[in-house]
Amino acid sequence: MLSAPYLHQDRDDKLIWMLDSRGGYTVKSCSAAVAGFLLPCQTMNIPNVWKPIALPKVEFFTWLAVLDRLNTKEFLQHHGIITPVENVCCCCQTEEESLHHLLQHCQQVWRIWNHACVQLARINLYPS
Ligand SMILES: [Zn+2]
Repeated sequence: MLSAPYLHQDRDDKLIWMLDSRGGYTVKSCSAAVAGFLLPCQTMNIPNVWKPIALPKVEFFTWLAVLDRLNTKEFLQHHGIITPVENVCCCCQTEEESLHHLLQHCQQVWRIWNHACVQLARINLYPS
C-alpha cells in the first residue's frame, strides 16, 4: 500500500534515486531496474553486448559503461592515479569528468553527437 510522503517544512526538497541504497543515480542501478522490467527473452544480459550489432570497439565501450568501469578522470582519481585538481572534463574543461557527465550532461559532447547525427541522419538531438 502506498503511503503519503511526510513533508518537512524546514528542509529543502531534494531528488533521491530510489533504486540505489545511497540515493544517488548510477548507470548500474538503472540497468538492473530496466533489466527487471523486460521480458525474459529481452533481459539485458551482459553477454548480449557482444552480439555483432555494432563495431567491436563500440560494444567494448558499452560494456565498460554498463559496468561503470570507463576510465574517466573520476575513475582514475578514485584509484589514486590522478589528483582531484586534474579531474576536469577533457571536452568542456569546466566540470569534473564522470561517466554521467560525459554520457549525459557535457554540453561539448552533446554538440559533437548532434553534429554527427545531423551529418549522418539529418536529425537534431537538442531538446526543444
Ligand atoms: Zn564536459
